[in-house]
Amino acid sequence: MAYVVTENCIKCKYTDCVDVCPVDCFHEGPNFLVIDPGECIDCTLCVAECPANAIFAEDDVPVDQRQFIALNAELAKQWKVIVEKKAAPADADEWRDVKDKLRLLER
Ligand code: SF4
Ligand code: SF4
Repeated sequence: MAYVVTENCIKCKYTDCVDVCPVDCFHEGPNFLVIDPGECIDCTLCVAECPANAIFAEDDVPVDQRQFIALNAELAKQWKVIVEKKAAPADADEWRDVKDKLRLLER
């Protein structure tokens, strides 16, 4: 199993999760982060750190978010590892609880 970043992270990207991950498995895209399922050791530390509640254990990903399991695996191969927290986008708080953000994902 692995942990999975879901839709609520899109356009928020607070990166609080990155600082606590012991194995550097977060990868960064233009407006979203993903977890490399091959690196995640299921430590659970990142879940509580995410202000957007975007991270779930693979088995607990909500039904309408299941596509993010494959998306994390796919994009982790394409995007570079991020190892340090950085400033969130200026409008991150405005996007935090907006639904249907998958169409806004930049690759
Ligand atoms: S803390 Fe949550 S919103 Fe921020 S980058 Fe990590 S998963 Fe995305
Ligand atoms: S569960 Fe642990 S190892 Fe997996 S992404 Fe979160 S902090 Fe990293």
